[in-house]
Amino acid sequence: MTERVIPLVIFGEGALKEVKTQLHNAGFFKPFVVTTCGRANQLDALLSILGDSVAGHFDNALEHTPVSVTDAAERALRESGADIIVALGGGSPIGLGKALVLRTALPLAAIPTTYSGSEMTSVYGETDEAGKKTGRDQRVAPRIIFYDPLLTLDLPPATAAASGLNALAHSVEALYASNANESSCQCAIESIQLLSQSLPELVAAPADLGARNRALKGAQLAGDALNTTTMGLHHRICHVLGGSFRLPHANTHAVMLRYVVAYNFNAAENGMRQVEEAMKVENAITGVSNLCDNLPVPRNLGTLGFYESDIGRAAQEIVSGNYPNPRQASETDAVRILSAALIGAEPFPLSE
Ligand code: NAD
Repeated sequence: MTERVIPLVIFGEGALKEVKTQLHNAGFFKPFVVTTCGRANQLDALLSILGDSVAGHFDNALEHTPVSVTDAAERALRESGADIIVALGGGSPIGLGKALVLRTALPLAAIPTTYSGSEMTSVYGETDEAGKKTGRDQRVAPRIIFYDPLLTLDLPPATAAASGLNALAHSVEALYASNANESSCQCAIESIQLLSQSLPELVAAPADLGARNRALKGAQLAGDALNTTTMGLHHRICHVLGGSFRLPHANTHAVMLRYVVAYNFNAAENGMRQVEEAMKVENAITGVSNLCDNLPVPRNLGTLGFYESDIGRAAQEIVSGNYPNPRQASETDAVRILSAALIGAEPFPLSE
């Protein structure tokens, strides 16, 4: 197995302006930029900073890294003669960048503009007609990461909140992971403190740069915690709902988190006490539920395009996979969890 790559992290307002210099310092002179469509302003800003050195760009990254999109991006990348891939945006372009690393062996740099935390991890995923496959490979972990909170100022409150809850879910599951260690727990706890404080702040005042800074730092730490631990039932459910039912990634995390916290509540006592301490709440279930209720995120899977008729197949797929969790979920458990999440029912009975 390849050694863990420690990335060079440049964090701070204006970090975007450093991209060309830092890439040059690291020996890269022909970047190929990948992003999602709709990010034209940020793409133009980056392209103008990179100037003549740009080998090319691809702006059609999609969620869950569909193989067909990677095929198209790979063709453009190979024709460009680039020596590094630069992913600009959220988890979608970073995921595309990782898929391209696996195909071309080029290195990856990332400029994250959401709170997915993918830039900190060696986790990759790809989706085709058969569903979503994920894996870990140190080669895909970005070598250089530019965190510029100014790039997150236009992240709409609803997108920011859902993405922040995706990050929070990394940290919650990291705290009860069987391979958690002191360092992963420290990252997870600090990220929960930062995210649970900053998400309501930035929703109330989207231009609050301090809150944007704290949320981005929380996302970075959550990504670090995700990178060093194995994720449990929450991520398994979201993986199936995203990969096989095409539900939107961050919003699915936002809906599911309270149900899995309730399900694992009695089986993960230490982890739950750490969540409560970090959030400064008496009970992790009500703490997470209240936080979600105070953010502009969907409350149920029904609004995300999931149907009652999907529950059986989803539950079967969830339990058919190998994943660690403090409490082994049966198919009946999975049906109960999904049924509650479908309509946004209270999560409490699931902990019984
Ligand atoms: P995303 O990258 O699709 O971004 C969501 C939306 O926000 C897009 O429309 C994007 O254009 C827009 N956006 C991004 N930055 C913006 C900004 N600053 N201002 C305004 N709009 C902005 O979604 P995501 O939630 O960041 O990432 C989801 C993807 O990441 C999924 O495919 C998921 O599987 C993957 N992921 C991977 C890991 C990992 O470690 N491998 C971790 C988390 C998520």
